[in-house]
Amino acid sequence: MRQSQLFMPTLREVPADADVKSHQLLLRAGFIRQNAAGIYSFLPLGKKVLHKVENIVREEMNRAGSQEMMMPALQLAELWQESGRWYSYGPELMRLKDRHERDFALGATHEEVITSIVRDEVKSYKKLPLNLYQIQTKFRDEKRPRFGLLRGREFIMKDAYSFHDKQESLDETYEAMKDAYSAIFSRCGLNFRAVLADSGAIGGKDNHEFMVLSEIGEDLIAYSTDSDFAANIEMAPVVLREDRSSENLMELKKVETKHAKTIEEVSDLLQVSPSKVIKSLLYIADEQPVLVLVRGDHEVNEIKLKNILSAKEVELATAEETKEWLNAEHGSIGPVHSSKEVKVIADQAVPYMVNAVCGANETGYHYTNVNPNRDFECNETADLRFVVEGDLSPDGKGTIVFAKGIEVGHVFKLGKVYSEPMKASYLDENGKNQIMSMGCYGIGVSRTLAAVAEENNDEKGLIWPLSLTPFDVHLIAVNSKNAEQAALSDELYTQFKNDGFDCLYDDRPERAGVKFTDSDLIGLPIRVMVGKRASEGIVEVKIRKSGESFEVPVSELSSFIKNEWDKLKN
Ligand code: ATP
Ligand code: MG
Repeated sequence: MRQSQLFMPTLREVPADADVKSHQLLLRAGFIRQNAAGIYSFLPLGKKVLHKVENIVREEMNRAGSQEMMMPALQLAELWQESGRWYSYGPELMRLKDRHERDFALGATHEEVITSIVRDEVKSYKKLPLNLYQIQTKFRDEKRPRFGLLRGREFIMKDAYSFHDKQESLDETYEAMKDAYSAIFSRCGLNFRAVLADSGAIGGKDNHEFMVLSEIGEDLIAYSTDSDFAANIEMAPVVLREDRSSENLMELKKVETKHAKTIEEVSDLLQVSPSKVIKSLLYIADEQPVLVLVRGDHEVNEIKLKNILSAKEVELATAEETKEWLNAEHGSIGPVHSSKEVKVIADQAVPYMVNAVCGANETGYHYTNVNPNRDFECNETADLRFVVEGDLSPDGKGTIVFAKGIEVGHVFKLGKVYSEPMKASYLDENGKNQIMSMGCYGIGVSRTLAAVAEENNDEKGLIWPLSLTPFDVHLIAVNSKNAEQAALSDELYTQFKNDGFDCLYDDRPERAGVKFTDSDLIGLPIRVMVGKRASEGIVEVKIRKSGESFEVPVSELSSFIKNEWDKLKN
């Protein structure tokens, strides 16, 4: 493509309201333009990259046995009423009426539509399993659209849905989708992890978010230094280190601690490390009081607590509730001589504490030399705390580190959450009516594009990986008015095309500086400059990522470029 013909409006200034790199650069390099908050046009360069992301997604989904189809973005409200989400989805769902006053929604996701299609068309176990996907525009009226394409109100998603008669079949498809996602994000050149996520009410370990490790990520993940273990901070299990101190058990003592209440104040006052203080927190779990104990240097993870107690709701007790159940104030409660009516549940590390400190259930007093199982009993011990950096990885390989992540994909076993209310059933081998099981698998296609831009740039502009670059080679006639340079450039343009490279040819009558600045900004992997030494048959080649540059005789250019391309692949 000749650049003189290309619609590629670049900007010199950083747009005022764009606060992350990918957003700034995609605007400046003429890949996208904003229409309204969270709503964008893809200009030709942006569309080319989007197309490449879509094709990678398509190839891997097809390879994994999913079939592409297309559903309407405009969806009848009745379907959403059947699943119940018309009422529960909230203002993110964009709703509208047609001329007959019938309610519609713009598709935020397509579980309802696909379930209605499959329910109507599939009646027998013989037609299962079925895995269907589409790549399509989604609409979500996000509360805070931001970071450009990363959180849009109109965006491109690949969404797949699978239908099964047997659990093993769902398990198998789930694994196949996870593998396909890994292949997709690897091909996009992203540093990502498949992260175990909270499944909320549905439960189970069958919910993974694919996260790109990034400074601007909105989610915090814990992953292993030496393996592919990764989990949402809320979900990451803690491995117990059973290292008990060899100290002799000393006699329980009540000490005056006056106004010291927090772990920090108490450990300062008594000159012990926070890891020697038992943090005691009274929770109300579905109306029942539970005294929760963790080490002073640890934090209670309420999601784990809720799961372990199988409670619908857990909440810290108010001052009044604490008084009512333990006859004490917040900062002075503890498990020693506490009310028998209050269940005590301790983090698994607590029984290993020796000569510890805890509140005495009396304002202004704490116990020292507290020894679990001697001075108090726990009803239950469990993994109740958040992981911290340096904890052992649960798979025994490496230690935990934290990172922020951008969610680019999500795989989830839905079970019968939609098929049950929407009555998607089939006849099994025995002619018995059964409800189908489902899985759903999403990828933010436009978000993936932005994540790639976010992770691949420098102060001059974007740096595209080979797999997604809008063009392969940037050919620049340094001075297009110079006949010799123009002639050689034209010749090379044809040569690149013949060699199978998609070449962007800057034939514009612009100053060299302008051309180079634009070239750095749009970030094609290889640049070829035809300048002063054209008369000697020598051109300059520059690699965008490394900044290396070479003077190459025209006769060797073809093989030189192929070789550099192959080097960049690895
Ligand atoms: P988030 O927590 O980021 O809001 P989500 O849990 O709502 O994501 P899903 O409903 O699982 O996302 O959608 C599937 C995929 O669609 C996500 O993994 C993400 O990559 C993408 N996605 C979701 N919301 C947006 C958005 N507003 N803009 C761009 N991509 C999005
Ligand atoms: Mg969301």
